[in-house]
This record gives sequence, C-alpha cells and structure tokens, in this order.
Amino acid sequence: DARVARIASTIRVIPDFPKPGIMFQDITTMLLNPEAFRDTIDLFVERYKDKGITVIAGVEARGFIFGPTIALALNAKFIPLRKPKKLPGEVISEEYSLEYGTDKIEMHVGAVEPNDRAVVVDDLIATGGTLCAAVKLIERAGAEVVECACVIELPELKGRDKLGNKPVFVLVKAD
Ligand code: 5GP
Repeated sequence: DARVARIASTIRVIPDFPKPGIMFQDITTMLLNPEAFRDTIDLFVERYKDKGITVIAGVEARGFIFGPTIALALNAKFIPLRKPKKLPGEVISEEYSLEYGTDKIEMHVGAVEPNDRAVVVDDLIATGGTLCAAVKLIERAGAEVVECACVIELPELKGRDKLGNKPVFVLVKAD
C-alpha cells in the first residue's frame, strides 16, 4: 500500500531522546501532514470495519491521538487507558515492568462489558509491556481483545513475543 511509505516518510527520528542511545520515533511530524494523518486513520478503519469491534481503547498519551477518530468511524466506544491517579471514578489497574522499575495503567470500572470486542491502539510497540498490560486490563473486565494496533513497531525489541498469541497489527516497522 503506497500510503504506508508516505506515512513512514513523515515520522521523524530523534537520536538520544529521552536519553542517550534511544532513537525516538516522533509521530508529531506525521500529524503536521493531513494526508499522512488521514491515511493512518483510514488504514486502521479499513482493517476493523465490519469486524464487530465495539471498543477502541487508547493508551495514554499517544493512543489518544489516533484512537478517538478510529472509534467514531467504527461507531465504537472510545476508552482511555490512563496513567495512575488520572481517572476520577473507580478503576482497575495493571502493573507492568520497565527497564528500571514499574509502571501502571488504569481503566474505569464499567467502561467495557463482557461481550465487547476491543482493539487496543497506541502509537508504537517497543518491548510490548504497555500493550500487554492493556490487554490484561480489558480481559480482566471480561471483554475480548481482538487485536492490538500501532503505527510503528520496533521489531528488534520483540514486543510481539510478549503479547503471545494476541495479534499485533502495525503500519510501519522501524529499524
Ligand atoms: P513498550 O511498553 O512496548 O516497551 O513501549 C511502548 C510505549 O512507549 C508506548 O506507549 C509508546 O508511546 C512509548 N514509546 C517507546 N519508545 C517510543 C518511541 O521511540 N517513540 C514513541 N513515539 N513512543 C515510544
């Protein structure tokens, strides 16, 4: 798909951010290009339309950039999965490990229902820890996660392995 190459060309790589040795994939430059941004949304919507998806769950913060537009196009609910202590209502949370220490994401109780079919959206999969926690959170609430969807994958970090048999759909593989 010619759209994928165009999307890839709008992603900026910033060396040594947020710390030395990291090549940060910056999607904000893609957002400056309405064609590339629209193509990104369209590719996800084309993949998930007519699949009975009832929930798009976006991971804070960059999952919030892509998720809501996809949700509206699919006539699905949008659910924000947030960093700790941001959601005002009763939450369930899932901890996951980082290179140093742990982090946590939270979801409102009652946001998903047992017969929901969800897709988890984020900008990028690196080690897969974030998406893995997101999947667990939604499945603990009794719903099905059909797939995870990201704009970018860093294949060297083998995030897919951590997701086990949960499918991961990505548009761009970065090296
Ligand atoms: P993981 O949990 O898969 O190791 O890391 C993925 C999470 O970290 C995502 O929420 C993603 O937004 C963020 N992240 C890690 N590296 C990058 C990067 O190079 N670029 C962007 N945009 N996000 C990153």
